[in-house]
Amino acid sequence: MIRTRQLTYQYPGGTTLAFPDADVPQGAVLLLSGPSGCGKSTWLALLAALVAPTSGELWVADQSLNALKNIAADAWRACAIGFLPQKLHLSSALTVQQNLALTFWASGQAQDTSRIEAALQSLGVQDLAQRKPAQLSGGQAQRVALARAVLLQPRVILADEPTASLDDQACADAVALLLTTARQHGATLVIATHDARVATLLAAKVEGQVEGQVEGQIGLHRLILLRNQL
Ligand code: ADP
Ligand code: MG
Repeated sequence: MIRTRQLTYQYPGGTTLAFPDADVPQGAVLLLSGPSGCGKSTWLALLAALVAPTSGELWVADQSLNALKNIAADAWRACAIGFLPQKLHLSSALTVQQNLALTFWASGQAQDTSRIEAALQSLGVQDLAQRKPAQLSGGQAQRVALARAVLLQPRVILADEPTASLDDQACADAVALLLTTARQHGATLVIATHDARVATLLAAKVEGQVEGQVEGQIGLHRLILLRNQL
């Protein structure tokens, strides 16, 4: 579940970004499209409680984020949000297995190796557990990052430009992988992208879509809520 009301965010010294209200039921797929600079990544950062809104209210995974502060936000994020950032931020000094283990550390939970193995297996990359990120292809690294994102069974998966610089086949594979993974976990999926191919791919794969289009102060935010589960 995602619910936002009159959300704004102002970077220090920057103009104020105003976001359209959103109501996203649990398990739905939301496509957030729009040109570069319109505020997509900022919206994801707000949903993940990485930044606090300048004004407005938001609830994500049954939590009011307005009420969350610092340490509580970190622990909540580690458990509730699976973030697939645009830059994957895998630690180059650590193996794939160790990169996933950091997630337990961040959430304050005891490390569970069998869950790491299961997450890697569900994305078909269990054989890469002892490799370092530099020894992975782009597609493998993205699968590892997605395995890390879903390790703790998050209620919400946020993917930021997951198809940037991918060719058409890899783009289709990445979208299919996100949909399948979200469905497996019953998670709400938000894909933020300026890649027009993603809307076409999602429309072909998901029934019962509802489109809404909202003009923001900075740019055009095109929110496509795919209401029904996959
Ligand atoms: P998108 O992800 O849609 O490309 P962003 O959310 O990254 O957009 O950025 C929205 C707007 O906020 C842009 O105009 C951008 O220049 C500005 N912005 C982003 N990050 C910062 C920052 N750290 N400091 C100041 N302005 C920023
Ligand atoms: Mg962005």
